[in-house]
Amino acid sequence: MPTHHSCFKNPFEVKRQDVIWKDNLPHSNTYQDRFFQDDAVSEITNIFIEPNQLLERIKNGSQIHVGELGFGFGLNFLVTAKFWSENNKNLNPNNLEYLAIDEALPTKEQILRIIDNFPEFEEICNIFLKSYDVSHNDIQRIYFPSLRIRLTLIQNDIESGLKNLLGLKNNQIDAWFLDGFDPSKNKSMWRNSVFQYMSILSKRNATFGTFTSAGFVKRGLKKFGFEVDKVKGFGKKRHKLIGKKLLDNTHVSTERIQKKKIGVIGSGIAASSVAYAAAQNGADVEIFESAGAIAAGASGNPVAAMYPRFSTNDSPYSFLTAQSYFFSEKIYAQLPNAYKKTGLLFSHSNAYQEQWIEDMKNLNREDLFEAIDKKKMKKLYGLESHGLLVKKGGYLFPKLICREMIARPNIKISYNHCFDNWVKGKSKIELQFTNQEKKSGFDDLIIASGPSLEKYLSGLRISKGQLVGLEGDQPFNLDLPINSAGYILPKLDEITWIGSTHEKEFKNIDVCYEAGHELIERTNKNFNINLSGSKNILMKANFRVGSKDRLPLAGKIEENIYAIGALGSRGFSLAPLLGEHVASLINNSPSPISSGISLAIEPLRFKD
Ligand SMILES: Cc1cc2nc3c(=O)[nH]c(=O)nc-3n(C[C@H](O)[C@H](O)[C@H](O)COP(=O)(O)OP(=O)(O)OC[C@H]3O[C@@H](n4cnc5c(N)ncnc54)[C@H](O)[C@@H]3O)c2cc1C
Repeated sequence: MPTHHSCFKNPFEVKRQDVIWKDNLPHSNTYQDRFFQDDAVSEITNIFIEPNQLLERIKNGSQIHVGELGFGFGLNFLVTAKFWSENNKNLNPNNLEYLAIDEALPTKEQILRIIDNFPEFEEICNIFLKSYDVSHNDIQRIYFPSLRIRLTLIQNDIESGLKNLLGLKNNQIDAWFLDGFDPSKNKSMWRNSVFQYMSILSKRNATFGTFTSAGFVKRGLKKFGFEVDKVKGFGKKRHKLIGKKLLDNTHVSTERIQKKKIGVIGSGIAASSVAYAAAQNGADVEIFESAGAIAAGASGNPVAAMYPRFSTNDSPYSFLTAQSYFFSEKIYAQLPNAYKKTGLLFSHSNAYQEQWIEDMKNLNREDLFEAIDKKKMKKLYGLESHGLLVKKGGYLFPKLICREMIARPNIKISYNHCFDNWVKGKSKIELQFTNQEKKSGFDDLIIASGPSLEKYLSGLRISKGQLVGLEGDQPFNLDLPINSAGYILPKLDEITWIGSTHEKEFKNIDVCYEAGHELIERTNKNFNINLSGSKNILMKANFRVGSKDRLPLAGKIEENIYAIGALGSRGFSLAPLLGEHVASLINNSPSPISSGISLAIEPLRFKD
């Protein structure tokens, strides 16, 4: 069983920076140490930016992956982001990848209080705070398009955070910022295992900078392959350490990365998500869809809900569901025509559901969950039950989401192209279609064709799923999706859609009215209601694709060929993060998920 390392019992455990304020500057209560000296910006430049030669790296146009140990209040990030923006001026065609790890994250209020002391960072800080979100621990991923910076912010202890990066070749760091508290007070960061992981995760020309000159830090870094220099320190510090990873004799390439041409098969939420992420990385993306219009499979339902059925354990699945949910919410929030941020309601209907609601309440996350008693449920929604409001998330119009995600200058879509297979040439991939001329010149291929993935992958479980649409008024008042054993979506064009059937045995994918009426009956029972309009029902039927172990599939299937699918019933919550992961594998930039999760969703895991 793949392992995801975490110092937290579940994704919703909270840990914030514990500080006391002296002269409006923070001092750590936990480590009895200050976060930075008075002249913090010069200090950061002197200790991290200069020894890591960021200016030279920007100018030579190579990818820059910063790895910071000790995020603190994010000041190093903000100073680096400003430095990158001011000096880059399109010299470097890549995004700046900034990966940071810290066990405790600051609140937005704490960050704002610090930035009061540094007004020149107010603008960049506001950009950061718009996307910064502490809904869950573990990895949060933020892309800042106006800055061309991608932040991978990992809330975990340093050792677990680094361990989670091991095993994925794309998790490689060029420039280390070692900024934990004083080594004598923070032994868990300054230890040999951390230096060893750093060494494994370093690119061959990696450098580091740190404020400390402690002997055991110097010895530890040397032991694991770093050349270390003790040089003049900043401010009141006499010395600091700087250095680089020792090279073997082979040539180190600083060549610019060539722009990639990527083919994507399908135009559902999986394909749209990976196309969106690959385009952000600067690739030229061409989508091939077999139908004559976008999202012709399950992603083409008239309306869909996000699915916040979280777990409260520390399994890879539990972290994946939380992380992907909040990540997709952030992406959809940028597409307000297609996404309605309403929150979601769960109502009690059986012992399992009751226990789940209780588990969520026991997390004590009032910022995310609110218990709704019977009286309030009746008053607000007209329903006879108690339940739980999940405050973040909402519902969406799937085709519009897909269309808006791929509406980028470097994404092109070709309809009526039924993909058959690929052929690899010397350096490029050729795509073959059953009904069109072949297309060539692709560097990478991503297959996200829903049920058709069965041709290339084993372990898929395909069932039939149906939605029922009811015209007219209903005996409740819902402006948000409500879940029980099934779900009801807010009225769209005078139609209330309810979902959904799960039919393992099916003869064809035609709508089946008998199953529709059974769904209505079940929904009436679960929600204790009497749906109207059931004489004349609308129906939609589609394939639902899951996997043998109920986890999705996303990753490499052979060199330069990738797949995403088996998203089950939560495609709209999972796909954006999985797309981001696959795009990172292709771009050779840090992944948004741990290597344990990546292994758990590996597409070839069911191969004999
Ligand atoms: C009834 C029902 C209700 C659901 N409700 C929800 C919900 O509310 N919330 C939620 O999160 N999830 C829901 N789901 C699940 C969700 O719809 C899926 O997980 C998701 O849409 C799958 O997306 P996909 O991109 O992997 O596949 P698909 O949406 O199936 O997309 C695959 C695309 O590939 C194209 N294609 C196939 N073969 C080829 C080929 N050979 N060449 C080129 N193109 C090809 C297809 O035409 C299609 O456009 C529901 C599913 C069903 C069935």
